[in-house]
Amino acid sequence: MCTVSAVPELLTVDDAQARVLARARPLGLEAVPLEDAAGRVLAEDALAAIDLPRFDSSAMDGFALRSSDTPGTLPVVDRVAAGRPATRPLEAGEAMAIATGGVVPAGADAVVPIERVTEQDGSVVVPEHAPLGINVRPRGGDVARGSVALRAGTLLSPSRLAALAAAGVATPRCVRRPRVSIVTTGTELRAPGEQLREGEIYESNGLMLEALLGACGGIVERHRSVADDEAAHREALAAALEADVLVTSGGVSVGPHDLVRTTLAALGVEEVFWGVAMRPGKPISFSVRDGTLVFGLPGNPVSSLVGALLFVVPALRALQGVADPLPRFRTGTLASAVSRRARRDDFQRARSEWTGEGVVLRPIDGQESHMIVRAAGADALVHIPRGEGEVAAGAPVRYLALDEAGAA
Ligand code: AMP
Ligand code: MG
Repeated sequence: MCTVSAVPELLTVDDAQARVLARARPLGLEAVPLEDAAGRVLAEDALAAIDLPRFDSSAMDGFALRSSDTPGTLPVVDRVAAGRPATRPLEAGEAMAIATGGVVPAGADAVVPIERVTEQDGSVVVPEHAPLGINVRPRGGDVARGSVALRAGTLLSPSRLAALAAAGVATPRCVRRPRVSIVTTGTELRAPGEQLREGEIYESNGLMLEALLGACGGIVERHRSVADDEAAHREALAAALEADVLVTSGGVSVGPHDLVRTTLAALGVEEVFWGVAMRPGKPISFSVRDGTLVFGLPGNPVSSLVGALLFVVPALRALQGVADPLPRFRTGTLASAVSRRARRDDFQRARSEWTGEGVVLRPIDGQESHMIVRAAGADALVHIPRGEGEVAAGAPVRYLALDEAGAA
């Protein structure tokens, strides 16, 4: 008789992400001066404070006139510059010189570019018919006053900052940035630059997480490193739970020195899940206390990285009210076949290459979870779904562009 040992079903990545997002509700809002709002997320729809353009505006350097007067020779009765409107309306049979961005005078309904006319003796000769409205940018053509310029949940990229500035929104209401604390665990850890004794290694996850989560809008404190000691864990984690998000590294597996989960439980933190069907990063934990989300990332540096990208970054985005917080995977093709894992989704580090038709992904040598130097040479994280057999060379796969992954 053969016995089948029960392998506990791990949560899938999708399920685990859904459980995280279910707890990651947007934080409160605050008015933010536009000059400080890069990378922030709108808490409310931003309404245009003015019509944009604010007035009928010339698209060209040329002459404002009436379409019905063209072709023809018209006296030039005024010169309009940007910021210096005409002093009177334009009458039939007249033209006014006008610069790009100048107010098209009342009475004019077309602008003829300077290249299409000749100016002589105070008049302008317009040889062709100028269609009605040509080169006039109508008032409110970009956005009308009072209508939605940008939706709630929009991340303020450079072009969107410009849009708000142009539409007269000086202090958009944004979601508060989450406060993030990071605690790395391990008696073996030493800060870079220190002397290593036998068995010690340099701490690398703390810096990585600070940089990544800071780039995603977190207000990140300098990380703390604690030894594998209950009292040290308790003290550091209790203090770190004051933040909106606590991220730990290491100490979340099943060894006798893995103290993060038990310490969190003793501090009244409720575990939502532990273990996700992925590689690297399986023993990740997610828990909550009051308003604080707690992510226990495994200590192997690549596991920490992948766990942070798939779970912590989306949580930070959701806390900031981003409408689509999950990582944005793209599609590429595999350069060489990759074996699937039966039970776990694999996230392979790869180099991407643009061929002119699409992106080809070449998994790097050195896929083990301690190999952070190898991983640092990759620019893509390729998703190999769990299953039987292999994903063939040339097959389409989803990947995350690592260069962009840090952006909120
Ligand atoms: P752990 O998850 O604590 O069992 O750690 C797994 C592996 O990751 C061990 O080899 C640790 O020494 C290593 N490790 C843990 N934390 C860090 C860290 N902050 N920086 C670099 N390596 C780490
Ligand atoms: Mg450890």
